[in-house]
Amino acid sequence: MSIQCALQGIEFSRTKAREINYSRRNGMKLKKEDLEYFRGMLQKQLDDLVRGAGKTVDDMVDAETKTSFPDPTDRASMESDRNFELRIRDRERKLINKIKKTLDKIEDGTFGFCEVCGEPIDFKRLEARPVTTQCIDCKTSEEEEEKIRKL
Ligand SMILES: [Zn+2]
Repeated sequence: MSIQCALQGIEFSRTKAREINYSRRNGMKLKKEDLEYFRGMLQKQLDDLVRGAGKTVDDMVDAETKTSFPDPTDRASMESDRNFELRIRDRERKLINKIKKTLDKIEDGTFGFCEVCGEPIDFKRLEARPVTTQCIDCKTSEEEEEKIRKL
């Protein structure tokens, strides 16, 4: 067997391995209607979040302008409620940014591909969490590395 043939053989088995990987993960390039589906889903999530965030800011302004509570325990619980609110707000802000970035990715055609290995992300995974940026394999190995680092 010539070197050329051997190399072609290796190339062929690599391609084959990739194909097997594809079908195992159900990963494939997203169709136009799939992209529209995700765009709609993300846009709705974004609208809900933006509306929700606006409401809480109003609530906080309301609480601010109210006269001080006579009972100090009420006051303390109000403070912790507010801290809790702020933590949620912070998480929401991060999620809003993620959603905006994901919508950009739908525009530029990089949506649905893993940022680490470049392979298509499983459709069901995207459906459950459209803002995900990694395929399950990369995410799992990242989490395992994190676990090891923490040890
Ligand atoms: Zn990946």
